[in-house]
Amino acid sequence: MVGNWKMNGNLRENAVLLKAIVAGWHGQRNADVVICPPFPYLAHAATVLSGLDIMIGAQTVSEYEKGAYTGEVSAEMLADLNCKFVIIGHNERRRMQRESDLQVAEKFVQAQQAGLIPILCVGESLEDREKGMHLQTISRQLDAVFDLVDKSMFSNAVLAYEPVWAVGTGKTATPSQAEEVHKYMRSQLDEIGEDVRILYGGSVKAHNAEQLFALSDIDGALLGGASLDADEFLAICKAA
Ligand code: 13P
Repeated sequence: MVGNWKMNGNLRENAVLLKAIVAGWHGQRNADVVICPPFPYLAHAATVLSGLDIMIGAQTVSEYEKGAYTGEVSAEMLADLNCKFVIIGHNERRRMQRESDLQVAEKFVQAQQAGLIPILCVGESLEDREKGMHLQTISRQLDAVFDLVDKSMFSNAVLAYEPVWAVGTGKTATPSQAEEVHKYMRSQLDEIGEDVRILYGGSVKAHNAEQLFALSDIDGALLGGASLDADEFLAICKAA
């Protein structure tokens, strides 16, 4: 279960949210739980959550190892801050920051080289979905990473299917839409496909989580809005 806070919160609000999560946390549930705050708050969140079995992740990482890349944050820096995971290729970055498939693949490589577990996001636009081209888009996004990384390296990665049209819109993919894509993603990973964890993301809330988690190919969720509400977040973790 991964909570992606995106660019929300501040030190005071985060302290309130984290306190509520700590207060409502009753030990490890059936899931690995990760919270991904914005960069400036990683250290604070890691400190507050240090006694709990909740891990910390970042929302992106540089595709470069180090150097004159003003404003960028390297995978090694994230590892220094006790990050275990990093979200890569989120559709908001692919679209708004114009991250290319190649950049996403390079970020994946950097993350793994620094010992971080990449959470690789893929997903189609509404237009692709309406044209019935969603699997082609997923395939293109995965192939860009397969070009740089041996498929066996995915045993140390997490995949996330986030249809662009379902993110922040209140529209969730139907169980059959999500299952189709998750199954397809497993098939692209050849023999390790069954062992790779594939999350679904896009308007997952406490009221629809159980239905999604009941599907055999959905291993968890990448949460946006729901991760900013302690009760909602904890309820979804419980449903896992
Ligand atoms: P929402 O849960 O707000 O739709 O966001 C999903 C997401 O983008 C998580 O990375």
